[in-house]
Amino acid sequence: MHKILIEDIEQEVNGTLFYEFNEFMNEFNSEISADLTLKSLGQFIKIEGTIKGVLKLTCDRCLNEFDYNLDIEINETFAKYSLQDEYSQEFELQKGQFIIDLNGEKEIDIYDVLYQSVILALPNKKVCGINCNEDMFMSDENYHVHDSRMDVFKNIKIEKKD
Ligand SMILES: [Zn+2]
Repeated sequence: MHKILIEDIEQEVNGTLFYEFNEFMNEFNSEISADLTLKSLGQFIKIEGTIKGVLKLTCDRCLNEFDYNLDIEINETFAKYSLQDEYSQEFELQKGQFIIDLNGEKEIDIYDVLYQSVILALPNKKVCGINCNEDMFMSDENYHVHDSRMDVFKNIKIEKKD
């Protein structure tokens, strides 16, 4: 269970609850740890902290699995009560900062918050490293460009250190 009652946050000293997460998340097939501060500020709950882990990702080029070091900061604001009609469901507080409407829910699912944050932080293009030995000339950016002088390089394999 990773659900935290809003009431419990409000009852903490200064309305601040510290939450430590250290668990294997099946969705990422990795151990994820997070240090979070949940703060009750009037109508809002603010969650701040860091999320870390070493994720096993699959390289888009060579399809090998590689370790991806995840180290991100989160800063999310939730509205305790449904936002008024003049605001959209999710409105921008500052550039890139949205308020998430809890729609009257009495609790926040930390697991879900972490899951969403990690998903957003993952790179669009997952590449194992600059020495990825996949045939670079077949990667999608270069797929349509074919220079026969380059064919010689296709057979060169870069040795992996591990
Ligand atoms: Zn690769």
